[in-house]
Amino acid sequence: TEFATAHELADLMGVTPKEIIQHCFTMGKFVTINQRLDKETIELVSLEFGFEAEFVSEVEATEVVELEDNEEDLVIRPPVVTIMGHVDHGKTSLLDYIRSSNVVAGESGGITQHIGAYEVSLDGDRKITFLDTPGHEAFTAMRARGAQVTDIVILVVSADDSVMPQTIEAINHSKAAEVPIVVAINKIDKPEANPEKIKTQLSEAGVLVEDWGGEYQCQEISAKQGTGIDELMEKVLTEAEIRELKANFSREVPARGIIVEAELDKGKGVVSTVLVQRGFLKVGDPFVAGHTMGRVRALMDERGKRIREAGPSQPVSVLGFEDLPQSGDEFTVMLSDKEAREIAQKRQIIRREHEFRRSTRVKLDSIARQI
Ligand code: GDP
Ligand code: MG
Repeated sequence: TEFATAHELADLMGVTPKEIIQHCFTMGKFVTINQRLDKETIELVSLEFGFEAEFVSEVEATEVVELEDNEEDLVIRPPVVTIMGHVDHGKTSLLDYIRSSNVVAGESGGITQHIGAYEVSLDGDRKITFLDTPGHEAFTAMRARGAQVTDIVILVVSADDSVMPQTIEAINHSKAAEVPIVVAINKIDKPEANPEKIKTQLSEAGVLVEDWGGEYQCQEISAKQGTGIDELMEKVLTEAEIRELKANFSREVPARGIIVEAELDKGKGVVSTVLVQRGFLKVGDPFVAGHTMGRVRALMDERGKRIREAGPSQPVSVLGFEDLPQSGDEFTVMLSDKEAREIAQKRQIIRREHEFRRSTRVKLDSIARQI
């Protein structure tokens, strides 16, 4: 691994490079002034001069400097919605219903590609982006990485069952992340459905629905028959309007987004779904994403159709990664391949260092800010 050079280290400690080189020599290491020293050497040399080496976190060291958004570029964007709820309460059925009822007439095949997210169009050119990943894990995984992607949670509770442990978990996750919840009481087509019982249990769990004087919008639905789905979508959009969700729609700013998911395809290489959050992502853009980088080779929508660009709240399947990113990684367009590579490489070095530190439990301190 490579870290600071003898020269950089000397600057940091206010000594001459010669002193560093001499000290290395007494330790049996021959180094030159511009040679990168390994972590152990840095640590020992620092101690010798009365310093403790610290290797700063990768985020601090390699954060991509972000430009401020111009107020006039900020425009209302579609909300990003995650469906959560207890197993078998109908999350998949609801997504499937929304997806299939949203196939644009004449569009061949509909949404056939699983890309982990998709955008649906409603009347009046209104859109909602759904994250089609197992709700809880994706939500927690992304949050753990500091990525807040979801704007609104649809909490599905089955009217023929009860508020269950994963219902409570979903409520807790959403509240902790300060993400608004819209309740969907599902399976009302069933004779044994008892929505009132569900509302009572929800109120006991801290979710008082609107028609009972609470703040949470609630809709009774049947994901199987399609009852109440339009109304549910309206409620989601109302929630979104209240929040005035905006994004930078300028074509001048470098695009930025979040990795929703990524996989290795034998033929295509890395295929990753990126949810664009700012600007427009275009074919040919160099980018850095977590520890990897690349250049956009192709963009595809959820129908597998090639598109030229993708804007805010639009999920898009991206080809052109050098390596597999992780969901929750930030995706940032850079000015050049060179710049992207530099940041990715620095992050890789720092990651290796973190792994090394974890395995050896070596305590290091304040050096190598330049890595
Ligand atoms: P998930 O585990 O939350 O994704 O739940 P699924 O969508 O897989 O649904 C679990 C079961 O409930 C499946 O057998 C569905 O067919 C059924 N189901 C889902 N929604 C409804 C509904 O509105 N009415 C009825 N009768 N059954 C439903
Ligand atoms: Mg499911």
